Amino acid sequence: MAKENGQIDKKGDVWTTVYIDGGWSKRSYGHNYNAASGVGVIIGQFTKQLLYIGVRNKYCCVCARYANRQEMPKQHVCYKNWDVLSPAMESDIIVEGFRQSMEMHNLK
Ligand SMILES: [Zn+2]
Repeated sequence: MAKENGQIDKKGDVWTTVYIDGGWSKRSYGHNYNAASGVGVIIGQFTKQLLYIGVRNKYCCVCARYANRQEMPKQHVCYKNWDVLSPAMESDIIVEGFRQSMEMHNLK
């Protein structure tokens, strides 16, 4: 659709406009926890389809259990892939999605 619309750059790469969004959970029932998980999405302008989705997690219950005991965690399937401030999750996911757009969709 982008190609039909003439959206081709000087190098011959097809490009499109996308919508991006992201969010993270927040709990405020008398508490104010920092989000432990965040999501980011890239959606194509023409198709309105999901082009990329990424998730960042700051929490893993296995890691947390070992940390509580002040022990090194044994090998496990770990879902923790984020260790800095939660608001940076969204932009990190979007950058990752942009970096992979040519490989995944042959689209800038
Ligand atoms: Zn873990």
